[in-house]
Amino acid sequence: MADHSLPQESGNLVYSCIACSQRYDIYDFIYTCPNCGSLLKIENADFDKLKQISGARWRQIFDERKKSTVLEIAGIFRFHELILPIIPLQDIIYLGEGQTAIVKANQELSDWIGVPFYVKNDGFNPSASFKDRGMASAISFLNHVIRVKNLDNVLGICASTGDTSAAAALYLGYLPKSKVRSVVLLPRGKVTPQQLSQPLGSGATVIELPGVFDDCMRIVEELARRYHVVLLNSKNPIRIAGQKSYAFEIAQQLDWAVDDLVVVIPIGNAGNVTAVMEGFVDLYELGLISNLPTILGVQSHHADPVVRWRNTGTYIPIKVKPSVAQAAMIGDPVSFPKVKQLFENHFADRFYAISVTESEIMEGMLMANRHGHVVCTQGGESIAGLKKALDAKILPNSKCYVLDSTSHQIKFSSFQQMYFERSFSSEYGIDIKEDFSNKPISMEADAASIASYLGLQKKE
Ligand SMILES: *Cc1c(COP(=O)(O)O)cnc(C)c1O
Ligand SMILES: [Zn+2]
Repeated sequence: MADHSLPQESGNLVYSCIACSQRYDIYDFIYTCPNCGSLLKIENADFDKLKQISGARWRQIFDERKKSTVLEIAGIFRFHELILPIIPLQDIIYLGEGQTAIVKANQELSDWIGVPFYVKNDGFNPSASFKDRGMASAISFLNHVIRVKNLDNVLGICASTGDTSAAAALYLGYLPKSKVRSVVLLPRGKVTPQQLSQPLGSGATVIELPGVFDDCMRIVEELARRYHVVLLNSKNPIRIAGQKSYAFEIAQQLDWAVDDLVVVIPIGNAGNVTAVMEGFVDLYELGLISNLPTILGVQSHHADPVVRWRNTGTYIPIKVKPSVAQAAMIGDPVSFPKVKQLFENHFADRFYAISVTESEIMEGMLMANRHGHVVCTQGGESIAGLKKALDAKILPNSKCYVLDSTSHQIKFSSFQQMYFERSFSSEYGIDIKEDFSNKPISMEADAASIASYLGLQKKE
């Protein structure tokens, strides 16, 4: 039997248009179909060869790799064959991404939601969001192309709600400065101070524009159409390839038993939910799992075009209103056509979507974090969405729930602060509950008065 302990270069990857099925060279820097303008996905023309290995054997291969000390396969590239099998290990950039923990909710929190559940917190990635998964694949691929085509003067660029730019700047910072420049476009005032500090600290050129993310995205799309740049948004299917690892890891962490599983995901530009669904489809087609799980997408009612489409069958881009789930505050998700296609082809009875209020998001975040978690506002969205979906009984009966917290609490602590200080502008429509508030208490440095304030019993 062939040794698969270390992945070998294999596969035959092409871009394939999701609308007209035209195929294009994977080494071309293109992000939409030159023929019809639709989105591209990555297709492995040799995917069927992977089926010569049984699902059970694949499970064993991936489980054995858990023990490896080879850094290149310590993160998302444990699943090399399902991500970017054409690149050799030497080109992989590993900065500690992937293999994030799943944390079981305690009894009190489970009781509040209504079921036992796990949080898989992608805030435990190097730039503290899931975007590192897709950036690890995109920048490893770029590193590969730079080497084999001997490129220089490469400019990596993205529009961002904060976390894509943090991840892009981090990973591009690892490549030689003589070859690569890093540029990010941000909506001015619409990313948190922590998120803004990240690309600045990584040395990227940070350009702030008026408007919201959708406006930055339009500019970056035009730049990618008319100039030589490498687009690092999730419109670039190489990003999606790496982000599939979230699904692979959930399956492996649950010992490949994903029957009766619901995965809850906040939706913004819809790259993440696309990747997770594609990842589970790969595992299903190769026989690593015997059924597809159910996916619950969650959006704020201030930015919920996908939920509206799921409820009505009609997709209409919307104008967003301010949301504490700011990283998902997107009115016209670029990857929506992929979500629709995955829904129609694979997840017709397995994809649900729900919208939650801004107050519900904050309460979900604060409640989880009071019970041992470190979830961001988008994680709060997942918590609130599951609670609401269970109350509304829209999900099929399930035994296991995994909630995506897409980034770390600390990145979004300014919203927590606004909650505690009651400083939200009225546009958010947030109702503050005194129970959730917390603030520091200033006292004299005197043990007796602190003890008295705390009502402590004196030792005999
Ligand atoms: C980008 C992002 C999202 C939204 O993910 P999409 O792939 O755009 O749907 C959600 N949460 C966080 C923290 C993000 O950075
Ligand atoms: Zn096309």
